[in-house]
Amino acid sequence: AKNDGRNHYRYYSSEMNVNMLERVQLEQRLRQAVIRQEFCLHYQPIVNLDDQKITGVEALIRWQEPKLGIISPDKFIPIAEETGLIEPIGEWVLQQALTDLAHWHSLGFKISMAINVSGRQLLGHDKTSFTCLLKALLQKNNIEPQYLHIEITESMLMDDTEHCMTALESIRSLGLDIYIDDFGTGYSSLSYLKRFPIAVIKIDKSFVDNMLERESDAKLIKAIVMMGQSLELKLVAEGIETHAQWKMLQALGCDYGQGYLFSQPLPAQDLESFLHQQTQS
Ligand code: C2E
Ligand code: CA
Ligand code: CA
Ligand code: CA
Repeated sequence: AKNDGRNHYRYYSSEMNVNMLERVQLEQRLRQAVIRQEFCLHYQPIVNLDDQKITGVEALIRWQEPKLGIISPDKFIPIAEETGLIEPIGEWVLQQALTDLAHWHSLGFKISMAINVSGRQLLGHDKTSFTCLLKALLQKNNIEPQYLHIEITESMLMDDTEHCMTALESIRSLGLDIYIDDFGTGYSSLSYLKRFPIAVIKIDKSFVDNMLERESDAKLIKAIVMMGQSLELKLVAEGIETHAQWKMLQALGCDYGQGYLFSQPLPAQDLESFLHQQTQS
């Protein structure tokens, strides 16, 4: 560490202690949360950009801590990954999401479900356990595999390439599509897109945010779309908030989209109402 003078150093170190304390407390609460089942899932519609019709949903976890209120996944998923708690949490997510999906299918809404999966979950201690879990849960809920999608980030592909390849190929052989999340924010090389069994690219929200103001972001999106098309991949844009963003993404050739313009992530009940409304209109 730099010698910035005594006061600055002390300030810095006490702030670190606060963060450590907060983290340790959060970790303890997270252990309790797994036992007490304090999680729920919200579902964000993914729509076809041509007609705004819902084709699927992404499951997004929420933690309702009794004292602290709702805690964002950006805050607790990293802790869950480091502590290994992601394995029971991830299993709960899959079970809940597939139970809800089976219910919507039984009502005649044949939508798909995208699940976020972290590296530790995918690779785990036993390479085949995640695939076995997927297979068992699909069977139990009587869901055809093409309705389930797995979202992974591009950095996962780089971290442990060989294991990742084995795991993704076994998932793919079950008939599930694999999505690359937050595309453009990592450091993946284009050859990875071809080597791995990937079906869909999700263009990160950070590019969509500024695409109208910043020409470089619009150009980047255009390049991602063209590359995706030439590799015969589908494209989903994340974080669409305005009509202008929607129209521009559609013009650029992006297939699907998600964002507050179409719908926020919704509790299961509200998603069901959303589905009923869409079929009426
Ligand atoms: P993500 O997978 O990139 O999910 C998209 C995030 O953008 C979600 O945040 C969603 O609520 C938010 N979002 C969607 N549309 C808009 C929009 O138009 N405007 C704005 N401002 N935000 C929008 P959320 O739900 O807080 O999730 C954050 C991250 O936590 C996710 O990013 C994902 O990486 C992780 N996560 C969520 N659920 C799970 C899970 O079940 N398992 C794992 N491993 N990670 C999860
Ligand atoms: Ca995602
Ligand atoms: Ca994303
Ligand atoms: Ca993200």
